[in-house]
Amino acid sequence: MGEQLMENFLIKRAFLTPDRTAIEFEGMQFSFKEVYDRAVDFAGRMAGQGIQKNDFAAVLLKNSADSAIILYALQLLGVKAVILNSRLTANELSWQVQDSDSAYLIIEDSFISAAEEVKESCPAVIVLQKEKLHTLPYSEAPIVRELDLNDVCTVMYTSGTTGNPKGVLQTYGNHWWSAAGSALNLGLAENDSWLCTVPLFHISGYSILMRSVIYGINIHILERFQAREVIEVIEKRNITVMSVVSTMLTQILEELGQERLPKHFRCMLLGGGPAPLSLLESCKEKSIPVYQTYGMTETSSQVATLSPEYSLTKLGSAGKPLFPAQMKIMNNDEKEASPGEAGEIIVKGFNVTIGYLNREKDTQEKIKNGWLATGDLGYMDEDGFLFVLDRRSDLIISGGENVYPAEIEGVLTAHPEIADAGVIAMEDKRWGQVPIAFIQASSKTLTEEDIKTYCLGRLAKYKIPKNIYFIEEIPRNAAKKILRRELRKLIDA
Ligand code: ATP
Ligand code: MG
Repeated sequence: MGEQLMENFLIKRAFLTPDRTAIEFEGMQFSFKEVYDRAVDFAGRMAGQGIQKNDFAAVLLKNSADSAIILYALQLLGVKAVILNSRLTANELSWQVQDSDSAYLIIEDSFISAAEEVKESCPAVIVLQKEKLHTLPYSEAPIVRELDLNDVCTVMYTSGTTGNPKGVLQTYGNHWWSAAGSALNLGLAENDSWLCTVPLFHISGYSILMRSVIYGINIHILERFQAREVIEVIEKRNITVMSVVSTMLTQILEELGQERLPKHFRCMLLGGGPAPLSLLESCKEKSIPVYQTYGMTETSSQVATLSPEYSLTKLGSAGKPLFPAQMKIMNNDEKEASPGEAGEIIVKGFNVTIGYLNREKDTQEKIKNGWLATGDLGYMDEDGFLFVLDRRSDLIISGGENVYPAEIEGVLTAHPEIADAGVIAMEDKRWGQVPIAFIQASSKTLTEEDIKTYCLGRLAKYKIPKNIYFIEEIPRNAAKKILRRELRKLIDA
């Protein structure tokens, strides 16, 4: 592909609207001009340590204004940022630093012990502490004024459900088209202000950074999610848009009680995993404008979204593909499925990754003629609305019937005494497989019998969990997704 040159996003934005607020964090505000100046300064300090264009630099940072600015600084330098997940163990971090051949590791001071362990297995890596960056000698950095949309901007590792994690390559073009596709769908207002409590190390958070510079809107960053604080910030800081996963939305609803979110709040972008129907219904009752989305690291954020006008008639759907994206469902015969027929979701578009870092074979297996096989199952209804069922690897086949754990989990979590639930398959002599459920109860009196009786009216017989296990807490990852493989370990043990 030929070069596709554009002015560096942050430089362009600081030129267009220098005085608009770009970032709010812990009572501080930074305009785009200030963000740019600070990013140039960080870039100069990093350049002084030898970082150069096209280097891979791993970053292990918490949500903060400085973290966001460091990520922009890396873009100014043309450095490929390998964004590490702060919940990983030192072993996992070392593996990703090695796999990406990162020459640098930029870390939060509080992660210094993890960095020391990484250094034991990657002695050549140069560790830079975020809090000390501004005291390092400054050298005039060669700023990349023009970027090529085909160049890699970020590398984000998948969580590695099957085998080792893979580094997903995200180009500037992927981020650009993702932001464009989102705006064409959600609309854009000059006074938009996006609340970011999802991690910046995940595409859900990083994509908000990109939208901020591309759209020229403010982002309000919180270090972590806390429902009461979120409600207050939405009111007091005039937040109009927020990205959430379903567990966050559930907590916001509980915290709201009889309260309502203010009128200026226009979009609750819900993604990352399946949403229980009961949650969507409660949001409708409270007039929370939920946009349900479907997307993944490989599509640099959402690839399909359902607008609130359809939230009742198409309840549970993740909507239609965004303008720059295409989507198909492929059945077992590798033919395009007919409406209502389930199969693997495949997607194509400029927001779709060019592949996995140093993994030619995986890339060729997953991406064919520009179409990415997502590994997710779903179907489209006769109007072209997508319904995501579950991951192909988690599908339970019981007596020849397909059983989707997410559907059962959705029913279980709607029970008032169930705080959280996870469903996996168990081998069964008669049926091949049967679903079993792990329950995090919110009351001490709930019994296995209660749960089965409750399921009887709501689920077909073959979907009712054969065994119920009460556990302290359902294991979830940093993105709040159920770790079904951890549940499996509980019964295999
Ligand atoms: P890994 O690929 O390592 O297993 P991951 O797929 O969980 O990690 P992400 O890219 O953050 O990491 O998540 C994308 C996945 O989340 C999708 O492939 C899909 O399985 C799930 N998902 C996203 N949106 C929805 C949705 N609306 N309904 C159901 N599942 C969803
Ligand atoms: Mg995935």
